[in-house]
Amino acid sequence: MGIREKAKKIIASVPRNVKILAATKGRSREEINEAINAGIRIIGENYVQEAASKCAGINAELHLIGHLQTNKAKNAVEIFDMIQSIDSFRIANEVQKECEKAGKKMNVLIEVNIGMEKSKSGCMPSEVMQLAEKIAGMPNLRLKGLMVVSPDAEEDVDRKYYKISKKVFDDLGKSHKGIETLSMGMSNSFMAAIEEGSNMIRLGRAIFG
Ligand SMILES: *Cc1c(COP(=O)(O)O)cnc(C)c1O
Repeated sequence: MGIREKAKKIIASVPRNVKILAATKGRSREEINEAINAGIRIIGENYVQEAASKCAGINAELHLIGHLQTNKAKNAVEIFDMIQSIDSFRIANEVQKECEKAGKKMNVLIEVNIGMEKSKSGCMPSEVMQLAEKIAGMPNLRLKGLMVVSPDAEEDVDRKYYKISKKVFDDLGKSHKGIETLSMGMSNSFMAAIEEGSNMIRLGRAIFG
């Protein structure tokens, strides 16, 4: 199956309320356009520089899903429609400053390292509420929810983390307005993520692999 067929098949198989983000790190503009032509509306890139050169003028929403360094915040604010990888006060504050300079509002998600893995970025589950509190005080940032990075293990292991994540998401929604996006689930186990409450899946290999 080509990219177009794979994307169409996935679009047809997931519930309508679930958004599909195509994770396009390392993929060419041509491959990305194929996914967009098949009906993909959100492109997720991991690196600011790669996205800036590859995705200029693209006919889709552009989200940052990779770790953001403070010295890239300015460029990130220029090109992305959403930053899903806010994982510290420091980076949130930097994005706020750049948004203020640019006169822009930015939709953001808090990235949670739900498996508390040393090798992964994202804030600890126990830090989410405190970080959300701080972001709520930043006038140019709009906190929309969570991006979950999970261990990406067997489906039943991931499912356990998806359940915990959904609870953190629901708690966040009780204390903050406008919380609507739970970005959770990758190619390996996106159906399980949807069953556990995800409403945005991030797919690389399932579309391009
Ligand atoms: C690469 C990537 C994905 C997609 O992973 P697949 O397993 O290829 O679907 C999703 N989220 C993030 C943050 C990624 O870096």
